Amino acid sequence: MPWKQETADASELRERLRAARRVFVLTGAGVSAESGVPTFRGGGRTAVWKGMPFDVISSAGMIGRDLSLVWEWFDYRRGVLGSCRPNPAHETLAGWQTRFPSFALATQNIDGLHAEAGSRGVYELHGNAWRARCLNCGGREDVREKPAEVRPPVCRDCGGLCRRRRRARTSSRSTQRRRRSPASAA
Ligand SMILES: [Zn+2]
Repeated sequence: MPWKQETADASELRERLRAARRVFVLTGAGVSAESGVPTFRGGGRTAVWKGMPFDVISSAGMIGRDLSLVWEWFDYRRGVLGSCRPNPAHETLAGWQTRFPSFALATQNIDGLHAEAGSRGVYELHGNAWRARCLNCGGREDVREKPAEVRPPVCRDCGGLCRRRRRARTSSRSTQRRRRSPASAA
């Protein structure tokens, strides 16, 4: 986009936000790039892990074929995310929830950085790296509370196998998410 066009768009956006009462924001990989979160989207068939393209390892078919491998892939991603912290964009958006009478935030990211910055009730369209669901009873689990050496993690209620949750909504309470411990990021 030409620079002049971008400046015009930014000032129009600022103008609109000044008078806005109901605001909805959708974020993607761009908002977390400054925090060092890799997008894993090399484009096309680029291999991102163990010679596989992103779309192959993250597909529903792979969960059916090799759930342990999918967990290994997400353990790898959780390891990368463990050192990432919210950046000023996450913090600004967290501030917007009290700036506008009505505000909603949805994200395609699974890194949990919006919640860590203080955003509440975030719609996580692709789930969250740390949330899992039992394939048998539907019970919800926090991956940080499961032993890292048991993959796939096992449901505490029925012993069924867990997969990562595909959709999630962060807590609507005003407490900031607790910091991830280095041990749980491994
Ligand atoms: Zn279960």
